[in-house]
Amino acid sequence: MTELERKQDRTPVPKEWAYAPAPESRDVVTLDDRYGHYVGGKWLEPSETYTTISPATEEPLAEVGQATPEEVEAAVSAARDAFENGWSGIPAAERAKYLFRIARILQERAREFAVLESLNGGKPIKESRDVDLPLAAAHFFYYAGWADKLEYAFPNRRPQPVGVAGQIIPWNFPLLMLSWKIAPALAAGNTVVLKPAETTPLSALLFADVLRQAELPPGVVNIVTGDGRTGAALVKSEGVDKIAFTGSTDVGKAIQRELAGTGKKLTLELGGKAANIIFDDAALDQAVEGIINGIYFNQGHVCCAGSRLLVQESIYEPVVEKLKRRLTTLRVGDPLDKNTDVGAINSKEQLERIRELVESGEQEGAEIYQPPCRLPEKGYWFAPTVFTNVAQSYRIAQEEIFGPVLSILTFRTPEEAVEKANNTPYGLSAGVWTEKGSRILWMAERLRAGVVWANTFNRFDPSSPFGGYKESGFGREGGRHGLEPYMQFDGSQPSGG
Ligand code: ADP
Repeated sequence: MTELERKQDRTPVPKEWAYAPAPESRDVVTLDDRYGHYVGGKWLEPSETYTTISPATEEPLAEVGQATPEEVEAAVSAARDAFENGWSGIPAAERAKYLFRIARILQERAREFAVLESLNGGKPIKESRDVDLPLAAAHFFYYAGWADKLEYAFPNRRPQPVGVAGQIIPWNFPLLMLSWKIAPALAAGNTVVLKPAETTPLSALLFADVLRQAELPPGVVNIVTGDGRTGAALVKSEGVDKIAFTGSTDVGKAIQRELAGTGKKLTLELGGKAANIIFDDAALDQAVEGIINGIYFNQGHVCCAGSRLLVQESIYEPVVEKLKRRLTTLRVGDPLDKNTDVGAINSKEQLERIRELVESGEQEGAEIYQPPCRLPEKGYWFAPTVFTNVAQSYRIAQEEIFGPVLSILTFRTPEEAVEKANNTPYGLSAGVWTEKGSRILWMAERLRAGVVWANTFNRFDPSSPFGGYKESGFGREGGRHGLEPYMQFDGSQPSGG
């Protein structure tokens, strides 16, 4: 019997955790049957539509537009008009006021947005309520503060807006990605055409109502919905000066090819396969919480998820044992239940992709563990999964799964940990768990990742830049760095130091 098992017998923890249902009310959200595109401050009747659903129940929620190239063009010209006839010329302090208003309205309507986000995307309400919404509002507050200080942010470079920004976002953090994109673009004086992901358009469409409430001038932000064809039309549009894209590496590469030679600015935030590295001197229980948060947060639909766990060999057994035990306490189910830890997989396609990669892991020889849990019959679900016995060459150690699936590998020395962590085409994030500050700095210097978390994971702050190396993309979002892609400079270099 291991020490942990002996202790377990003595702990007063009940063998079964039974929670009564604690559903958040849906009444706070009023959905229309049908939505158009938000163009020039008005709703444009869509020529084609599709049905958006709740992935937890497969229940249809609303009809939304599938924007054609002509409809995308209408949005781009509205953005151009707004840019040239007002927005770029108003005093920066006035721009800031709109951003502050948007931030405050998001706070006031936080519950409504959180419920809608969980309904349309499948994420647990406690995450949309405690992470997505506060961070979305925080981004608007943060960039509101920069709007009239651009000269200080970039001294002697005379920053100017770029013009019309086309922004394409994914389905994992719909409203949060919207704010990562819209807030810096507006603060820098640009106008926007935003395309949310096809499976999660509803919070962006509700955001149009926030813009109305904030009395943002018409055309400054336009929202067109639709799938990849709509995104491709936005990328191709000649009226767009800059594209900001967050999504898969394949689509990011296609966009980069399309834009080569056009002179349009581009930032890409793509996939990841982050290493979460646990040294033998780390606080193990804390590290186990960090591993859980790193990979099961938002069902693992997180580009910076800690999907490769690197454990120092000497603590492999206790870490795996503690982790498996912790997995049995995760509650999988109704995203609107306040006790849910792991919600629904965002779409049928994503579920199929996760299943296919998990099968490949089993076939290649990894050992699978899933805690006993009853998954709902309707909707798209996948149990939290851990793979042990994983070789670096396996697909589950190389490819982004974008689901609640963790692959565990081991290492002996810090050098080996760095070597293995960097052995991926990606480079978005990494985590290091150790009690030694010097080791954290040593590792951070060598890890090829845009963000390195130390003794924590998946922490975000609007003032902290986020972005990747290699196939994880280029450009940074967040912080002062996040303003730069939305500005052009007159060529003069920063003076001093
Ligand atoms: P994932 O679904 O894996 O997050 P995608 O890259 O397919 O990643 O989707 C991210 C966003 O990119 C979505 O809004 C999607 O509609 C959009 N998109 C998909 N294909 C294209 C394309 N060819 N051009 C522009 N945008 C696209």
